[in-house]
Amino acid sequence: MRTDDAVSAKSRILIVDDDRLNIMALTAILRVEFELIIATDGAQALTLVAEQRPDLILLDVVMPHMNGHEVCRQLKQDEATQSIPIIFISGRSQAEDETLGFELGAVDYIAKPFNELVVISRVRSHARLKRQSDLLERMVMSDALTGIPNRRAFDQVSEREWQRCRRTQTPLSLLMIDVDMFKQFNDNYGHGAGDTCLILVGRALAACTRRPGDFVARYGGEEFVAVLADATADEARGEAERFLSAVTQLEIAHAYSLAGPVVSVSIGVATTIPSADKGIAGLKEAADQMLYEAKKNGRNRLAATDSVKPL
Ligand code: GH3
Ligand code: MG
Ligand code: MG
Repeated sequence: MRTDDAVSAKSRILIVDDDRLNIMALTAILRVEFELIIATDGAQALTLVAEQRPDLILLDVVMPHMNGHEVCRQLKQDEATQSIPIIFISGRSQAEDETLGFELGAVDYIAKPFNELVVISRVRSHARLKRQSDLLERMVMSDALTGIPNRRAFDQVSEREWQRCRRTQTPLSLLMIDVDMFKQFNDNYGHGAGDTCLILVGRALAACTRRPGDFVARYGGEEFVAVLADATADEARGEAERFLSAVTQLEIAHAYSLAGPVVSVSIGVATTIPSADKGIAGLKEAADQMLYEAKKNGRNRLAATDSVKPL
């Protein structure tokens, strides 16, 4: 899913074909309506997909070195690229070719020599479907108030990272982040001000992450959560420290907090190396316990499991 300019920009289409004449013909048909990128072999196609995340791929079946079916197979195996729709374009119009394409996960099949109207209508309709499903996914995965990822997105990401860190045997950290004395904030400044406060805190936390794998979501109410993969316990503490300052630096006055003059958060940090027989629930529980410690010790602070804790 492209998250950058996907709403307003033209859909980005990757054309993969080893025949320059075909590329020219397709370009002529599609260039007005779509942003086009071109690859002339399978390997180049895979690189361009990784770098530019097209919304749709027009893929020639017969190419030297790596054919279109193999390109499709590789894209469908990778979670990052498997939802990009692929339309096969092939001169070989045997039925089994077409069947294999669909079996590999293609959404459509256009036979060469192609009819311009057929190409443009099919590309249009698949590009439109892709935009709709991207939009739906963004809506389903983001929190309506703050605009940052929601709990559903957190569940997905944390499960995926758990499995990945289990395979690589690298540490995974979970940070439970809870706004301090937020009931007092709501009661004294009003629910609207409370909402604004949550928006600012959520955005500050999300903006604070440095590494591409770091992930922040709204867990629910005034609780946020962060997933840090491949970070040591010390690095996770460091990140939590940065979260603490990012929130106090917003300088949202909170005259009714026992933790200080401005809105702050408390953070529970837990780190573990995932094992095969355990799920992520134990890590969540440990982070919750640490959050409770941080609250008990005075709020606007973090508490962390000693080191990489076996759970
Ligand atoms: P602690 O420091 O121990 O965390 O105390 P607290 O007051 O923050 O915790 P408590 O769980 O007692 O209160 C949480 C409050 O958060 C109560 C609830 O009304 C408020 N809240 C939860 N979700 C929202 C929301 O979406 N908007 C607003 N304005 N308030 C919310
Ligand atoms: Mg709470
Ligand atoms: Mg709270």
